[in-house]
Amino acid sequence: MPSAGYRGRIAPSPTGYLHLGHARTFEIAQARCRAANGTLIYRNDDLDGPRCRPEFATAAMEDLRWFGIRWDEGPFSQSERLPLYRDAFERLRDAGCLYPCRCSRKEIAAALSAPHLGDEEPPYPGTCRSADPTVPRPGTNWRFRVPDGSEVRFHDGHFGEQKATAGRDFGDILVWRKDDFPSYQLACVVDDALLRITEVVRGADLIGSTFRQLLLHAALGNPAPAFYHCPLVTDEHGHRLAKRHDAMSLRALRAAK
Ligand code: GLU
Repeated sequence: MPSAGYRGRIAPSPTGYLHLGHARTFEIAQARCRAANGTLIYRNDDLDGPRCRPEFATAAMEDLRWFGIRWDEGPFSQSERLPLYRDAFERLRDAGCLYPCRCSRKEIAAALSAPHLGDEEPPYPGTCRSADPTVPRPGTNWRFRVPDGSEVRFHDGHFGEQKATAGRDFGDILVWRKDDFPSYQLACVVDDALLRITEVVRGADLIGSTFRQLLLHAALGNPAPAFYHCPLVTDEHGHRLAKRHDAMSLRALRAAK
């Protein structure tokens, strides 16, 4: 029986077939959870409507089971949890942490998905910071104001001490989009808190997101989980595996056996 203590999660995005890099990260997540006699939760990060497909969500579960990954709770699909994210957005907005942002940047379009290496938004220049949050026009995006100049630190279970400076290494965080969807950053924080995750195990390319998520956890009054980022699996040319590497997909490996 899992203990009431450790709660881990695996959170694939159903935007394509999973590859060996995912399998390795989730295997580490499973091993760390088992070593702690904990509970592993499956979260389906399917907010990115245009890119996510139900058949990829089904394939992800089948392929991970084939690979030997088992979970104790879920799947929880983010697309079915929108009221929970809205509630957190309203709390942050009512607490004065957010401002409406009318800038149209390509990063806003991409904010539904976790930003992997090279996809992170460059620090937002703060153009809309002085916008009055009490008179938002319909159809605005909302940003969380980061405390400029303050250092955010955490101890990573694999990489050790990590630190970044808010306002310099990353800027104001997009949390809500004008099409009425939460950003990945907000949805992830809300879920990790509500599902009582004690340790987040994920790829090293999300370390930059961790600093942002720690600020959102603090603003929402959540106890922050611990973090363990896994080294990324690369191909023979040293490139990070991505869903475009079809040959490394679990599907292809299953078919070849
Ligand atoms: N679903 C995200 C991804 O595929 C991972 C999110 C996370 O682990 O926080 O990269």
